[in-house]
Amino acid sequence: MKLTTFAPEFAEALPILEQIEAAGFEAYFVGGSVRDNLLGLPIHDVDIATSAYPAEIKQIFKRTVDTGIQHGTVMILDHGNGYEVTTFRTETGYQDFRRPDSVTFVRSLEEDLKRRDFTINALAMRADGEIIDLFDGIADLKAHKIRAVGVADERFHEDALRMMRAVRFESQLGFSVTETTQAAIEKHAALLEKIAVERIHVEFMKLMQGIERQNGLRTFIDTGLYRYCPDLADQLPALEQLTALPTVQLHDESAVWLVVTYLLGQTPAQAGRFLKHWKSANDVIDAVKAGLVLLPKLLTATADQWDLYQAGQAVLVISLQIAQLVTTATIPTADWLERYDRLQIKQKADLAINGQILMQNGFQPGPILGKTLAILERKVVLDELPNDTEALLKAAK
Ligand code: ATP
Ligand code: MG
Repeated sequence: MKLTTFAPEFAEALPILEQIEAAGFEAYFVGGSVRDNLLGLPIHDVDIATSAYPAEIKQIFKRTVDTGIQHGTVMILDHGNGYEVTTFRTETGYQDFRRPDSVTFVRSLEEDLKRRDFTINALAMRADGEIIDLFDGIADLKAHKIRAVGVADERFHEDALRMMRAVRFESQLGFSVTETTQAAIEKHAALLEKIAVERIHVEFMKLMQGIERQNGLRTFIDTGLYRYCPDLADQLPALEQLTALPTVQLHDESAVWLVVTYLLGQTPAQAGRFLKHWKSANDVIDAVKAGLVLLPKLLTATADQWDLYQAGQAVLVISLQIAQLVTTATIPTADWLERYDRLQIKQKADLAINGQILMQNGFQPGPILGKTLAILERKVVLDELPNDTEALLKAAK
């Protein structure tokens, strides 16, 4: 198969391939960019594979950065773009089910493509548009199949993260894993325990943010992969509920964790511990905890202005999205947002009074001062007082 028109990202990077070829080496676009281009999806990063060794690449191009030289990756800087160029390599060993014991640079494209995870990710494209498809990846792209390259059993045994990648591609692309590939995941699911939680997190998040979340979740459950993810082993009913939710794409990481922890029935404190086990970022954890406080009040229409104020706009927005996802009743989203907009203050700093002003007017520093301010803040949020310095001073006295 030969492409005659190139995505702009490829067109821009074409001179790089041509320069490597002119120096007597082979060079190809590989991996996700070739896959996404054939699917007509946007391309994020253009990866290049080459027969040239890193030292040889550095002789061809003046401006390079050693971004992963031990794995054979050099970044070429070109007119404000950076292109990762990786020497063809094979991997051997995998005694720990996650990292190869050693990486060997080779001159053969075939060897390099063989070590890749799925047939749709093992396509390469030459500068002239010719697609190299050694494992029937194009047929699988057309059939919407995720199939391991070579013997699925061996591939997941080598690197257990590939099992999570399989289910995340199911969700992102709306494809299905083949029967053999699925059986191999079922067989090796327990090896996921060997993988760093951070890496599982990345794939789980991509699964949850995909266009066909249910599709990926179905296999995640059916293969038993969930049993080897932090704190999910005993959560089958909640995961089934998650799978049954309507297909609304979730983009925000906090929104994803909010719906998960809500369906798991967690309190904010429990969610905090759960998300620590998943190695989530602190700002995400804070947003989810605040969302778990607000969400039930949105669902029962009992949130008051103080609740909206405490949550803040970002948490309100994701909580409204999740509220609408978990109920068939209509959530009056616009009304809630309008109520938030009408708050006299959005944060403490907006208050027309502070400790200094109080002290200038005869208040002594100490706990009473703090308490007074807290009461004023609450009264302004609830519209019991205007946000006006004179009025607030009078109320404070
Ligand atoms: P994305 O769109 O998320 O970037 P991708 O397929 O490009 O998807 P990357 O993680 O960027 O995924 O990896 C680039 C390529 O490297 C893949 O397409 C695949 O060929 C290969 N690859 C990545 N991770 C693995 C792995 N764990 N095992 C085997 N091959 C892998
Ligand atoms: Mg990629």
